[in-house]
Amino acid sequence: MAVTNLFSSGDAQHRRVIDELNAALDGASSLGLLSLDLEELEAFAVDVIKIRDRATALAASVVAEAEAAALAPRSGVKSLNAHLASKLRTPTSHVAPLRTAGLWLNRFPLFMDAALRGELTDAHIRDLRQCDNPRTHQLMVRDQQVLLDSATTLEFTGFQSALAYWLFHADPDGALSKQRQETYGVTVRTKRNGDVEIKATLDPISGEAFLTAVEHEAQKLFRNERDAGHGEGVMTHRKRRMIAMMRLLSKGFERKDGTHPVPLVNIVMSETVLEDLINRMLGEPGADFDPFNLPIDYNDVDRRCETIRGTPIHPRRAWPAVLYGRLRRQILDAKSRTIDLGHDVRLFTAAQKNALLVETRGQCAETGCDAPFAWLHADHKIAYTNGGPTNMNNGRIICGPDNHRKGDR
Ligand SMILES: [Zn+2]
Repeated sequence: MAVTNLFSSGDAQHRRVIDELNAALDGASSLGLLSLDLEELEAFAVDVIKIRDRATALAASVVAEAEAAALAPRSGVKSLNAHLASKLRTPTSHVAPLRTAGLWLNRFPLFMDAALRGELTDAHIRDLRQCDNPRTHQLMVRDQQVLLDSATTLEFTGFQSALAYWLFHADPDGALSKQRQETYGVTVRTKRNGDVEIKATLDPISGEAFLTAVEHEAQKLFRNERDAGHGEGVMTHRKRRMIAMMRLLSKGFERKDGTHPVPLVNIVMSETVLEDLINRMLGEPGADFDPFNLPIDYNDVDRRCETIRGTPIHPRRAWPAVLYGRLRRQILDAKSRTIDLGHDVRLFTAAQKNALLVETRGQCAETGCDAPFAWLHADHKIAYTNGGPTNMNNGRIICGPDNHRKGDR
């Protein structure tokens, strides 16, 4: 199918480029895919997605330019969104995100260039936009190159963590923006057909506690299914999570003696960050810390503050955990390897598993795998049956599915 060139009245050069782009896409869509093997198909898919992202960035840029040129008033239509949408015969919601992104990118020329080159995807841009607020705006303008570097060199989860660490620096006292504060909460909506829709946003620590409790319960359900002979389980994990939540609710949190269990939250904080936090909170005059700079850094083992899943937490927000929590010491070398926690047994201890999780920031060892936290196990690099020891050097974190695949090979 050929795409009509709507741009029929403009100047010849732009019209020709649009025609060429359409011709190239026609060529690409008419290529046979049967001759490609899996690897080639993957590479082709990646390239096509990159082109989509570049085209999206170009569309955002052009829409923003049109906004600036005040195209809408001239055409007598209420808004630019509505005008473009009517030409495309789509709802305005199809155009609105482009306009917002384009107007935002206009203020960050480096981001705009990178997006047009295809280095920044929509996903990156959305995350970057969320970090831009009145408190951080100046820093963001200044640090474009730094943020771009992490966007183009890190895997996406790493980019998000690096971004969060950057944000903490823009916010040394840890005060939450009003905007973010207001997002915390639970909304419940009854739909017309009677379904109840629940949407919740939790702060990182409450979120961690919630996930730990719900995933723990959901894993029990999964094991029940498996033990009943259903192999990989019959329910989607989404459904399992719902049942888990209902179970936790019906059980209630109270024990017979009136106490209630508190979900376990593991927070990883380096000694440097901990000392700085204590200084800050106790307000020692003349103490050895910079009130305007946090000793945190995504890339530095000795400057980490995050949950065991690798979700960055502002040290200030971790303060209650420092007051009430139990501290466990774990020493890592510069390459994030634990120095000594060894035992000569077949199963990794909970402490060893936690230590490995800290090293890997809650990620599966297989590159690119984003398996949920609850699926992760501690596993032997060299199998125990082949004489591999159960110690930190021979341990690694891997998800259930990847572990199975490895076993099958
Ligand atoms: Zn995996």
